[in-house]
Amino acid sequence: MPIAAARTKAIEEFAMMVNKASEKYQLIHATFAIEKLFQEKMSRESNARVIELRNQLKEENDPERQKQIHLEAKELQKGEDKRIRILVNYISISQLPETSARIAKTPNNTFIISLPKSLENVRNPDGAINFEKIKQLRELMAHELGHIVLHTGIFQLDGAPICVPGEEEEEAEFFAQRLLELRRERNSEIYNDGHYKKI
Ligand SMILES: [Zn+2]
Repeated sequence: MPIAAARTKAIEEFAMMVNKASEKYQLIHATFAIEKLFQEKMSRESNARVIELRNQLKEENDPERQKQIHLEAKELQKGEDKRIRILVNYISISQLPETSARIAKTPNNTFIISLPKSLENVRNPDGAINFEKIKQLRELMAHELGHIVLHTGIFQLDGAPICVPGEEEEEAEFFAQRLLELRRERNSEIYNDGHYKKI
């Protein structure tokens, strides 16, 4: 059954609303990926610990100790979907200079990236995209994501050296440039030769 005309119009308006709001966000694929990578890491670690506990249990005869092991396994299963959340918001220039961003962490593993309000609308008054603004936003986002990945202790590559104190800014900037380069490569694969029209 075809959708009623009035409903079609409403659905179009919703699509437009979502599309307009989505222009406020840059590097959201990367942001979502970090959340997911962390979740996978936690679940790998807790699964490994559960296996360890099961093996301990097989060899444990002390009922008190058995109870403790059960309890720890139960706690692990409860926390299995332990996740980080990364939120993005825009705050006014008086609080934040136009060229910088800020990151804050709440107690429940939520990181809030604050971006300058002046970059919230990436279009010029004539409606054309302002690429300079998008570039600034992407750089700020990539830099803050760098701090989340490198300097919050949530990720550690096996055997990799840790950050030298005082070098956080250089590291976040280096991460940002590399990530942006990789995203550009991906984008050119999608947008070159009109491939984006097929998806
Ligand atoms: Zn920084």
